[in-house]
Amino acid sequence: MTAEACGRCGAQRAAERDPAVLLAWVSEREDGAQRWLCPRCARDHVRDIESKLPTEYWSGPGPA
Ligand SMILES: [Zn+2]
Repeated sequence: MTAEACGRCGAQRAAERDPAVLLAWVSEREDGAQRWLCPRCARDHVRDIESKLPTEYWSGPGPA
């Protein structure tokens, strides 16, 4: 069984010493598998999602 590790940078969750940082780890389910994201990567991940939103989302067609 693999240890809980960040799916992006591979950081080991068990190696985290700071309880506050430990709580900031994000778990998500993807294709039935549990994935972990360390706080640093979770922040980058959110930015990725936002940058992938279609341009129309921000500048939709105005009133005709
Ligand atoms: Zn990470």
